[in-house]
Amino acid sequence: MKRIIYIPFDHLHRKFGALKDADPAHDLIVLVESARMTSGRNWHKERLFFLISSARHFAKSLEAEGFSVEYIKAPTTIDGLELASKKHKNLPIICAEPSSFTQCEALKKHGVSFVDNDFFLTPRPAFKQWADEQKAFLMENFYRKQRIRLGVLMDGKDPVGGAWNFDKENRLPAPKKYEGAPYLEHKRDEIDAEVAAELGHTPTTTWATTRAGALKQLSNFIDNHFAEFGPLEDAMTTDNWALHHSLLSPYLNNGLLHASEVINAAVKAFNSGKVPIESAEGFMRQIIGWREYVNGMYWFLGPDYRNNNQLNAKRKLLPLFSDPSATKMACISQTVGDIKERAWVHHIPRLMLLSNLALITGTNPQEFLDWMREVFIDASEWVMVPNVIGMGVHADNGAMMTKPYAAGGAYISRMSNYCKGCTYDPKLRVGDAACPFTTLYWDFLDRHKETFAKNHRMSQQIFGLKRLSDLPELKTRAKEVLRGLDQGTI
Ligand SMILES: Cc1cc2nc3c(=O)[nH]c(=O)nc-3n(C[C@H](O)[C@H](O)[C@H](O)COP(=O)(O)OP(=O)(O)OC[C@H]3O[C@@H](n4cnc5c(N)ncnc54)[C@H](O)[C@@H]3O)c2cc1C
Ligand code: SF4
Repeated sequence: MKRIIYIPFDHLHRKFGALKDADPAHDLIVLVESARMTSGRNWHKERLFFLISSARHFAKSLEAEGFSVEYIKAPTTIDGLELASKKHKNLPIICAEPSSFTQCEALKKHGVSFVDNDFFLTPRPAFKQWADEQKAFLMENFYRKQRIRLGVLMDGKDPVGGAWNFDKENRLPAPKKYEGAPYLEHKRDEIDAEVAAELGHTPTTTWATTRAGALKQLSNFIDNHFAEFGPLEDAMTTDNWALHHSLLSPYLNNGLLHASEVINAAVKAFNSGKVPIESAEGFMRQIIGWREYVNGMYWFLGPDYRNNNQLNAKRKLLPLFSDPSATKMACISQTVGDIKERAWVHHIPRLMLLSNLALITGTNPQEFLDWMREVFIDASEWVMVPNVIGMGVHADNGAMMTKPYAAGGAYISRMSNYCKGCTYDPKLRVGDAACPFTTLYWDFLDRHKETFAKNHRMSQQIFGLKRLSDLPELKTRAKEVLRGLDQGTI
């Protein structure tokens, strides 16, 4: 053997990263299941199950191809690599550039050499070049450049369909009692059973743990959901937990699928004429736009960015985040319950319910970030940090997004059917029946009116505040609501 190839649990692809030119005759493959990763925090067991079982399946597939594979359990990744080095005469270790600052530092210090991380469509230096040229880091501008650079949905120099953006068509609420095509259930095998038993967990059948399963999920999305993705992408309903979302993020993030594979399948389906432009564009925007932008911003903004708390938010994490019965708010109780069940909800509950609540209650950004990291199936440092600190709770003073995503109950009522079964009324901002989102939205604007005074994108909202005749009453109600949320009684 000439070298060790170290495969982190988020590089599980044979054709990308350090494995793309690997040879069973010369390369020893090492994977490390570190105790720090599995038991270091209060991780959702569905998430641990998915990550560990996927890695074990992947190790087995490499063995089947003829590779020598060491799957090592150790206290930390570095301990695992040391064990491998001792056993294999200090062979040089290579790895694709890791996906977080912390892991990059630790591996570099250990003498691991890196090959380019090609798990994304945008090399880190190319993103930096784009960002260095911007005054404001608008995702829309980045996305249009990506469309042109990658030649996705382009008609010469023009966007296919005559527009870059179909947001207007793509913001519909779900029709009543909306069902839609069912989602795949993934069968479990011996490896799954072994991991589940070790974790003391009964897994759902929602998440595949093999490359074959991830490919099936992709085909199922393309064949049964893609055409309807766009119009309902922001909708939330108690009738259908996934609507037409792809459920592909876990596989894109652990490497079982590569973004280019997803894009190629989507382009092929669009070219066959079965998918309307608003769905095709809406989905491409997520993959070549948002996903790449968020990863680029993580590296561009640097390791200290995660510690931002520019709105000086100090509240401790509310009990409702770990216990859905600790609130009477139907939207939050349902969402936290869904997360407990399958470690996933789509982008609007993440942004407009969970993050919005953390933002307007003044919850400490790092406590909220830690919770989000622990409970989502697809969470990683590179993707959670910009999404939470920048987009979700505006803790970076607008470095990433020009305005905070703060909203009252009216938005939630428009985009979901949650309010119908709720104790509270989205239209009310004062009184016992007032919707906590509505009360706290105005209270948040009032608390931060000086900070946002110079932000022209906030001027309409701040102006609205001046027209509230019941502001003193609202401030009293906001105090009650915050106390009730802290105590788990609201
Ligand atoms: C506060 C907040 C936290 C988030 N945390 C994560 C996270 O930890 N991991 C994660 O993968 N996504 C995260 N997202 C983005 C998005 O919510 C999920 O990617 C999506 O819900 C996953 O489900 P899906 O695969 O069905 O996505 P779809 O709606 O089908 O979208 C397709 C793909 O687009 C990509 N994508 C879309 N938006 C984003 C985004 N903002 N950032 C990165 N990728 C995006 C994902 O890879 C996703 O699989 C977060 C968004 C918000 C607002
Ligand atoms: S009334 Fe308010 S708290 Fe209740 S479901 Fe609607 S938005 Fe959520």
